[in-house]
Amino acid sequence: MIYLDYQATTPIAPEVAVAMRPWLADKFANPHSPSRQGREAAAAIEVARGQVERAIGLPGGSLAFTGSATEALNWALKGSLERAVPGRNRIVTAATEHAAVLDSCEWLAGQGADLTILPVSRDGLIDVELLDRELDERVAIVAVMLVNNEMGVIQPIADIAARAHAVGALMLCDAVQGLGRATIPEGPDLVAVSAHKIHGPKGIGGLWMRSGTEPATLIHGGGQERGLRSGTLSPALCAGFGAAAKLASERDADDKAHVERLWDTGIGVLGDRWTINGSTNERYRGNLNIRREGVDGARLIADLRDIALSLGSACASGSGRPSHVLRALGLTPQQARSSLRIGFGRYTSEAELIDALSRIDSTGRAQESVAA
Ligand code: PLP
Repeated sequence: MIYLDYQATTPIAPEVAVAMRPWLADKFANPHSPSRQGREAAAAIEVARGQVERAIGLPGGSLAFTGSATEALNWALKGSLERAVPGRNRIVTAATEHAAVLDSCEWLAGQGADLTILPVSRDGLIDVELLDRELDERVAIVAVMLVNNEMGVIQPIADIAARAHAVGALMLCDAVQGLGRATIPEGPDLVAVSAHKIHGPKGIGGLWMRSGTEPATLIHGGGQERGLRSGTLSPALCAGFGAAAKLASERDADDKAHVERLWDTGIGVLGDRWTINGSTNERYRGNLNIRREGVDGARLIADLRDIALSLGSACASGSGRPSHVLRALGLTPQQARSSLRIGFGRYTSEAELIDALSRIDSTGRAQESVAA
């Protein structure tokens, strides 16, 4: 099987599995208990926290572990709105955000928040002048992702954060697809991350919070994570996240250079027979989202069973609806259905990519000629 679905999830790094193993075997103590074994587990969690914080690379804040980035984004949005001063109940976000942001915002709108969803241009970027026109002192939070999960487009986060701060609003950045792949710019107050997109385990994420901007607590209980997010932490998952983050920091330049080489190789194989969705300049190049007239993306995926790729976000793929992200670019439902998301990274070889793309290309060509 050739795995080209790096935006859905990434293979566990061997170093991550090694770091997790002791905590899954004999080291089973509760990290919140005062026993010697408990304190040892708590210390391992603090090491992991430092590793993830260093990979995020922002000064003046700290990370709380969560069960997923979805939880972190729910917490950031709902907790910030709860904490906002009276009169600040507006949320500004973008049409291309992940469902974890858009659905949380819609829920908050149902509770009385005033929601603005900004459109994006044909290349997937936010128009910051349009953003400026929406910003006023009633805005509590601006939520924009760094790297888009469906097409890899990179938004100007530092600029957006500066504009949000100018009206006294917080800035939340979903950096799930950005961590380990692009530099997280200074500016956001809240940053959501997830381990399984950086070769770590599933079931653990985190919310980095600038000191003083912590959202109100959503999950009450034993008072873990400085009382901000209760629940017994898993030392195994934390250690795995930490090891993955450390590896991402150490391999940063190598991983980025590898992805650039793969992108160039991929573009060479596909030629100009396929159109790339979204900006090619402001983009993480481990995400090749392409379309071709006459192609039925779902059928192509079914025909090429030994290649793992997807139509769009893993969460939306099951719905049968054309991707909201591609629709936001102005693509027709048909164009969105003729699109494929090909994601590669650290463990993808050039030979695998060439093999897979050649077969995707010839299957696409066959579908195109039948449709013509
Ligand atoms: N945000 C983005 C951009 C994502 O790609 C994902 C996962 O697909 C999430 C949020 C949710 O992350 P998690 O799987 O940790 O809930």
